[in-house]
Amino acid sequence: MSAVPPVLKIVERCQKLFEDLDFNAVKQWKAAVPGRKAIGFMPVYVPCELIHAAGMLPVGILGGGDQLEVIQGDAYYQSYICRIPRSTIELGLTGRLDCLDGMLFPSICDVIRNLSGMWQMLFKDKYVKYLDVPQNYVDSIGGSFYISELENLREDLGKLRGKPVTAAEINASIAVYNENRRAIRDLYAYRAAKPWQAPTSEVYLLLRAGMVLPPEEHTPLVREYIAAADAMPRPKRDNARVVINGSFCEQPPLALIKSIEMAGCYVVDDDFILATRWLLDDVPSDANPLEELSKAFLHRSASTAAKYDTTREEKGVYLLKQVKTRGAEGVIFAAPSFCDPALLERPMLQDILAKQKIPYTAFKYAENTGQMAPIREQAGTFADSIKLWSAA
Ligand code: SF4
Repeated sequence: MSAVPPVLKIVERCQKLFEDLDFNAVKQWKAAVPGRKAIGFMPVYVPCELIHAAGMLPVGILGGGDQLEVIQGDAYYQSYICRIPRSTIELGLTGRLDCLDGMLFPSICDVIRNLSGMWQMLFKDKYVKYLDVPQNYVDSIGGSFYISELENLREDLGKLRGKPVTAAEINASIAVYNENRRAIRDLYAYRAAKPWQAPTSEVYLLLRAGMVLPPEEHTPLVREYIAAADAMPRPKRDNARVVINGSFCEQPPLALIKSIEMAGCYVVDDDFILATRWLLDDVPSDANPLEELSKAFLHRSASTAAKYDTTREEKGVYLLKQVKTRGAEGVIFAAPSFCDPALLERPMLQDILAKQKIPYTAFKYAENTGQMAPIREQAGTFADSIKLWSAA
């Protein structure tokens, strides 16, 4: 009997974590040292360093996926609203998030803002914070506002654990997250260089594992995956290299990511689970930590529809850079149904791509989309058209 290759063992472990809607990994982490706390956070980005510095586990909550039946959650939102708030409510009401001692709702859209209010009413014994982010990128204006938000969070977390969170603790956590971001940057660079060796369905599961594992455990797992993936040759296909845009909040079902790949696309960049890659480079870990986190947010962070662009000229710059630096041949706009930020931005991005003669296609999904055939046909036709007509 042949042994399971190491790369597949890692993927299998990540898949189990991904499928576990009871968050047993979080429960185990808490049980290992009684008294430890876990804080959930919604997409897109929160400064996990502060949670980590308080000795707590940051837990990414990305909805219920396609395995959760939403029964009670539907009563809280109009039927046309995207699915992630409803499935998150369902997770909460069914007790699956009881292992969390608090929840952070970063400013992303009105739906998430409303969800933070509902959470306060529904779970009165839990810490809940709506984390506002700046829409002005001048250090003395947006920066000082953001630092005060970070200061409030730091104080709250200090109260929750019964001891203030020190600058030295935050700096130590910044160093830990720098390592994690470096590993993920390497993973993304590796996938762009050899997408046949690191399928996006696997890369995605690795990122999801980082939503429930502590960074000290996740970083070596990412490094092990890169080494193990490289050690197992896989067939190289003549696929079209694409960037996926629009999936920064409610996540597509895993089957959808697989369908895009099976249709003949190599995903060479994407905006899945941006929390892991929001800050684009290392944050200095030997200075004033809140100031450095603020500067990184203001001047060196990823772009997405949920983040304010101060000028029209900035729109699309990040996407074009992804296309050019990753050697992509086209863009797939894949956004959740009724996702205002993504769908409002999409025409602007499409205009920019059209001017640059970069092919694109677009569709919508829900986290529980089940019918993959139309998406596979659309992505397959897109990949074929790139291969047939875009070649120089
Ligand atoms: S999917 Fe879009 S509309 Fe829905 S909560 Fe997320 S950002 Fe808001």
